[in-house]
Amino acid sequence: MAALMCKFCDDRTLKDGIIFDDGVCTVLASKYPTSRGHMLIIPKSHYENIFDMPVEVLEHIFYLTKEFNSMAMSVFKPIGIKNVFNSGAVADQRILHAHMHVIPVYEENSKYNVKADGSWGKEITKSDIAEFDLIKTEAMLRLGTHKASP
Ligand SMILES: [Zn+2]
Repeated sequence: MAALMCKFCDDRTLKDGIIFDDGVCTVLASKYPTSRGHMLIIPKSHYENIFDMPVEVLEHIFYLTKEFNSMAMSVFKPIGIKNVFNSGAVADQRILHAHMHVIPVYEENSKYNVKADGSWGKEITKSDIAEFDLIKTEAMLRLGTHKASP
């Protein structure tokens, strides 16, 4: 059951950024990316954090993390990937619905990297979302043709 006022459960505007959906998880382009190619892997069921989540769901998230890290490497060409799983507001968890971050990291001083203030400086645009088209195609080829649920 969806928690009251949960952005990931309730916010229909996030649907624009959907990259992949296999019925267990949704992969979303981060609406406020900290670097180019920043994605979120989100279980479709509402769990507040990692402590609430069944191991099977966690395993699936880590399976998708490996796959989407690999796709981000080939599509966005970063020099590394940071995976972050924040639990609790004091640990910078801004949306209290558990999610894994896939954050490509680029060379020092690259315009695609996180800024000193912790942001990439902007809300994601339609052209930023279009950059994920190759990931969408690659994900369908690797993981199967799953339709995003309505
Ligand atoms: Zn939720």
